[in-house]
Amino acid sequence: MSRTVSTKTDVLAERVKNLVREDVRAMSAYHVADAGGMVKLDAMENPYGWPTELQQQWLQELQTVSLNRYPDPQADNVKSGLRRAMGIDEKHSILLGNGSDEIIQHLALAMAGPGRSVLAPEPSFVMYRVIAQFVQMNYIGVPLQADFDLDQDNMLAEIKQHQPHLIFLALSNNPTGNLFSEKKVRAVIEAAQGLVVLDEAYTAFTDADHLSLLDEYDNVVVMRTVSKIGLAGLRLGMLVGHPLWLTEIDKVRLPYNINVLTQYSAEFALRHYDLLMDQAAILCSERERLLKTLSTVAGIDVWPSEANFLLLRCQKKSARDVFEALKQRGVLVKLLDGAHPLLAQCLRVTVSTSDENNQFLEALSASLS
Ligand SMILES: *Cc1c(COP(=O)(O)O)cnc(C)c1O
Repeated sequence: MSRTVSTKTDVLAERVKNLVREDVRAMSAYHVADAGGMVKLDAMENPYGWPTELQQQWLQELQTVSLNRYPDPQADNVKSGLRRAMGIDEKHSILLGNGSDEIIQHLALAMAGPGRSVLAPEPSFVMYRVIAQFVQMNYIGVPLQADFDLDQDNMLAEIKQHQPHLIFLALSNNPTGNLFSEKKVRAVIEAAQGLVVLDEAYTAFTDADHLSLLDEYDNVVVMRTVSKIGLAGLRLGMLVGHPLWLTEIDKVRLPYNINVLTQYSAEFALRHYDLLMDQAAILCSERERLLKTLSTVAGIDVWPSEANFLLLRCQKKSARDVFEALKQRGVLVKLLDGAHPLLAQCLRVTVSTSDENNQFLEALSASLS
């Protein structure tokens, strides 16, 4: 006769199962690859540090920060710094997030409700879908065309059918690196009853700037981040838009979401914004050099990019084999094969210093042979 023995762990597992939402239990946690000791070209980080003198100045001023006090809940000095650096008009409001990821969450929390939808083209930034799922909104992914531009007819048809409360357009798009054509972006905005979020995470790496659309359309907000320009560790994102929108969205933000160390460091870094922009300019010219070189590499297709990464497609060897071979040689890129049909056999590589880019090129040519 067999008898089930319920251990303490079994009982606990049952309890967790009964209490945690079924759709949450079915999710897998966001996976970040371990890059220990590798040339890290998987996450669009800026590879440059600061000159020693600036680093010292930052550390010295950091000594005056009071860790025992709560941060300024509005982070007004950070907002002024961002306004000055990015030329944001006083008529627009700014809302800050612990990374723009958190702003996506604010937007979703403020709009969520039974039967409400989030819409985005695919492939694009995965957090749009993930966060929609967190707040139990329907998510509608509309495939891009084969050239990675918006499929306008399909977008408009889905908008008409689902009347999404939120639409996300990444300009430039991650992971494809391109901008969508402006005519199509406008058509989407004009067809939408909901709020259209223009995600400009890569604004430093493109001449395109959609802030002016805020004046033309009252259902548009613009989202930016300092992550891709050298401050990924701070976790600071921003939303720019009409005060009527931002006042409401601000209500779901936790009061002290931008900590004192981030506030202080961002203020400091924004006073040296020129340095960050100079680094971005170097990365843009490195991007063009990489693109040119990769275009001549047999077995690889590469697309032009308006961001600090390039999308590659492996023609002969499988992307997974190339990914693993690069890893063997100490270079970590992002494997995209399997993420979406349009990304079959694709890899994404972050543009880095000329040294690291050369290491990548060498490792790639060895990995392809
Ligand atoms: C990297 C990225 C973000 C997230 O930025 P964080 O501010 O670091 O959270 C948002 N949108 C797109 C398109 C990105 O590529």
